[in-house]
Amino acid sequence: MAAMTDAAVLRLAAEARAVEQGHVARTDGPRDYLVRSDTIEGSWRVEWRPLSDWILFACTCPAGVNHTFCKHVALVGRRLERDAIAVWRDGWWWLCHPAQHPVPSDPFEGL
Ligand SMILES: [Zn+2]
Repeated sequence: MAAMTDAAVLRLAAEARAVEQGHVARTDGPRDYLVRSDTIEGSWRVEWRPLSDWILFACTCPAGVNHTFCKHVALVGRRLERDAIAVWRDGWWWLCHPAQHPVPSDPFEGL
């Protein structure tokens, strides 16, 4: 097995933090999830889009907006895995069945 990249280690650490802190991702639409915030009243919104055979994520939290991997995205990735949409491989989330998730004309729209 190849050594995990630094990014993969950070992503797994983010997921561990989210689970240890008891966070859950609630569905708010087919590609939207809400994760309760520790720092503000309310929740952060995590969205995902298919991009070829991998998954693009965006989170509204400060780390997510700065494209730093955050625990909210990690949690949603694992949720997608449970729902048989995503699989974790080589340090990133990939679609299990890319043909079932056509790439939007502008996958970055709204992210
Ligand atoms: Zn976040």
